[in-house]
Amino acid sequence: MDTPVAMLASYAAHDDRSRGRRWPEPPPAYRSEFQRDRDRIIHSTAFRRLVYKTQVFVNHEGDLYRTRLTHSLEVSQIARTAARALGLNEHLVEAICLAHDLGHTPFGHAGQDALNECMRDYGGFEHNLQSLRVVDELEEKYAEFRGLNLTFETREGILKHCSARHARELGEVGRRFLDRTQPGLEAQLANLADEIAYNHHDIDDGLRAGLIELSELDALDCFGEPYEEVHARYPELEGRRLIYEILRRMINRVVTDLVETTRAQLAGASPQDIDAVRGAGRALAGFSEATREANLKLKHFLNAGVYQHFRVLRMTRKARDVIETLFEKFFGDVRLMPPEFLQAAREEEAALQESGRARVVADYIAGMTDRYAILEHERILDPRTHT
Ligand code: MG
Repeated sequence: MDTPVAMLASYAAHDDRSRGRRWPEPPPAYRSEFQRDRDRIIHSTAFRRLVYKTQVFVNHEGDLYRTRLTHSLEVSQIARTAARALGLNEHLVEAICLAHDLGHTPFGHAGQDALNECMRDYGGFEHNLQSLRVVDELEEKYAEFRGLNLTFETREGILKHCSARHARELGEVGRRFLDRTQPGLEAQLANLADEIAYNHHDIDDGLRAGLIELSELDALDCFGEPYEEVHARYPELEGRRLIYEILRRMINRVVTDLVETTRAQLAGASPQDIDAVRGAGRALAGFSEATREANLKLKHFLNAGVYQHFRVLRMTRKARDVIETLFEKFFGDVRLMPPEFLQAAREEEAALQESGRARVVADYIAGMTDRYAILEHERILDPRTHT
């Protein structure tokens, strides 16, 4: 259901006050500007690939784990709920959430770290910078421009972090990292919803994979009350249904805290419009102190119990090897890449020397799904494999 514009708070992103697109286009007939952004994201090639990209567990390990696609949908659904409750622009928040991981490499964070290491002498690799690069440059869909030509507000939300050097190269959308200002509230919410989503779905996936046990969660502040509540009401409940009843209560509590804390901070700062939000001097969307601490403990728990589990580390190690090998081979001989990437590598190398060549190799690797990267690795190394 659409949010009527009348329900939007003054500090929300309003369509008619958008900073616009890099290439001006006539307004859409039946949709808002931000709905059009969302639709362009959903129709993009990079979006379809998210289904075959790892969140924590490599895609072929099982059909029940989160992928980048289901993660992005969970982020979007959490952020939309909070946006509606706060009178913010649900369409914009949805566009940002669905696009936030478009630039992610195969194999989750292991892949991103490995590619960043390979790119160390050539400007590095950062996945949210790459998400912006996907929507600004790499998607080839329109006759009149490169990329998807999204609104400033969606691009602002996609670019979560950025070094000063990159910020200078990015112009207007990077400026807040030099001015030390904030993005709009929709962007702030999308960022926090990302954290809520992965903290909770990684517990779920960790339990499902048998890396952690439900009883280990006992040590966490955020677990106690939801568990007591479920246990009191359904003392016989066990298995998946017990896990889900607890998890949904945990998510609900964090989202409620986010909405209430943000509402109180907005009441205190009373920003008149989105520019006042940007210039508020601090983020106005956020969690209470207690929830921030609980989130931190949850992250430590996940790190020790799931992300550093030997079974996950083995996968991480293999993923690094695949990415490093692919980079070394393609960077060493760009003719091993498909023709469109070979051509791009030659053009970029003519303009930016080795850094240009490296960037195109990184674009090629970052765009791969898990299984495509594994297949390419095989095709490059195994003489018995057909190419
Ligand atoms: Mg994410």
